[in-house]
Amino acid sequence: MSSDLKSKVTNWDQKIKLMNIGIVGYGPAGIVAGMALKRRGHTITIFERDERYDLRQAGDVNRLDRDKTYPIDIGAKGCRAIKYLGIEPFFEKHCNSFKGTRLLGDGSMLGPEEPEGHYGYMGARVELMWALTEAQETLAPDIKVYYSTKVESIDPDAKTIHTLCEDKRESHSFDLIIGTDGAGSLVRRELQNKGLIECEEHRG
Ligand SMILES: Cc1cc2nc3c(=O)[nH]c(=O)nc-3n(C[C@H](O)[C@H](O)[C@H](O)COP(=O)(O)OP(=O)(O)OC[C@H]3O[C@@H](n4cnc5c(N)ncnc54)[C@H](O)[C@@H]3O)c2cc1C
Repeated sequence: MSSDLKSKVTNWDQKIKLMNIGIVGYGPAGIVAGMALKRRGHTITIFERDERYDLRQAGDVNRLDRDKTYPIDIGAKGCRAIKYLGIEPFFEKHCNSFKGTRLLGDGSMLGPEEPEGHYGYMGARVELMWALTEAQETLAPDIKVYYSTKVESIDPDAKTIHTLCEDKRESHSFDLIIGTDGAGSLVRRELQNKGLIECEEHRG
């Protein structure tokens, strides 16, 4: 590359700024985001209002929370995230892989009988959580997870998260806060209330 062109390229050899990141919600989105950011060297803390999923109970149907037992299909996009993190073995263990048909560029069809015909995983949400929880605890054990800790409010300006755990209130400050707290997200509501974002909630 000529030195003239090189001077126009920014951030090429700059190291990324490592951040202290707080994530609200230890659901599928929070775990995947946390692991991907951890891989890049950031320090990750996740707050989850539910108690910890007990992996020793994996497979005990009687322990399944009926509200969290609905089936989930993980299609192409989800599989790309799983592949990026290299955590396929955890999904092979806890979920079922499914095959399907896929249209190729030339109009022909790749059928389930083809060796490459693996397009996704399916399982109950709790099985998906077992796969992700075991992956996180095995590969990224230094992600700090606060279970049974409800985020009561956030201060986007001060980048502070206010939590409640067993009658104990705490505040935690970060360089960046990420909301992965699902439908009815508190983080989104707080940002909306402050006029920082505009969005509509779609209810099914
Ligand atoms: C019947 C049904 C079927 C579905 N089928 C599919 C499907 O086939 N494929 C698919 O992709 N999706 C499906 N979904 C949607 C599925 O639930 C979501 O895709 C998935 O759970 C989203 O993950 P998430 O991490 O974004 O949010 P969630 O799974 O909702 O996780 C959010 C987490 O944040 C925590 N949290 C929330 N508020 C706070 C707070 N204030 N403080 C601390 N923690 C908090 C929650 O306890 C939860 O653990 C289905 C949903 C339902 C109801």
